[in-house]
Amino acid sequence: MRLFAAAAAILASLSCTPARSPEPNRALLGGGAAESLRGQGAAAPEAQPRAEARGSVPEAVPPPPQPTTDNQEPITAPPLPPPCSHVPGVCCVALQPFGAVPQEYIDAAAAGLRELYGFEVRVLEPIEHPESAWYEPRQRWRAEKLNDFLRDRVPEGCDRIAGLTTQDISTTKGDIEDWGILGLADMPGPAAVLSTFRCRRKVHDVSPVERFRRVAVHEVGHTLGLPHCPTWGCFLEDAGGKAETIDRETFLCDVCRERLGWVE
Ligand SMILES: [Zn+2]
Ligand SMILES: [Zn+2]
Repeated sequence: MRLFAAAAAILASLSCTPARSPEPNRALLGGGAAESLRGQGAAAPEAQPRAEARGSVPEAVPPPPQPTTDNQEPITAPPLPPPCSHVPGVCCVALQPFGAVPQEYIDAAAAGLRELYGFEVRVLEPIEHPESAWYEPRQRWRAEKLNDFLRDRVPEGCDRIAGLTTQDISTTKGDIEDWGILGLADMPGPAAVLSTFRCRRKVHDVSPVERFRRVAVHEVGHTLGLPHCPTWGCFLEDAGGKAETIDRETFLCDVCRERLGWVE
């Protein structure tokens, strides 16, 4: 009888041991009865597959699906679209010819913007110069008024607009009421205007068309927020009132690129 009693005591202690383990779980869950039950219910089925995998199935079987799944997810769901240009947030520049502008000048401006900044360039149908920009005393067009006109004409899907003209343009510079210029731009802002008129003067090594291409790069650079740059030969160097300065401008320097947040 003593043996039976001892055996019963041992069995009782053994049967009590597994019954205690859920108790700390309930305390940890800390929720109501439903949470405790959910915790208990989940524990039992989980334990069984693990035991089976360890026991009878070879180790080589479970691993293959895991790496395959992990590799596929990032490839099938790329998170970011590719950048549309080298300048974050700017994809397209529209060119608006005022009157008849020779195709070679239009092509040069478009190529300059495409090749340097990587922009899409959209050439719009030519329109007449707006009367509001005419400056009667000097018989030429006021650049800031051309930009006023252009500012709200940026086409859908474009980010900037640059007016092109063969006629002389001018603006107020310091004490000089009406100063002839190559181009004028918002800094930063949507509009710029470029004239071929002064690109044709005092031509030495660089053709008027090539000068015009550099003026386009320079003025559109201002619309992106670039100020004049002290680096000798940078496209954003101040022409200083001389068209010849443009002839040495052949690159966009690292300081200017950094300012734009340049994307390679
Ligand atoms: Zn400038
Ligand atoms: Zn620069």
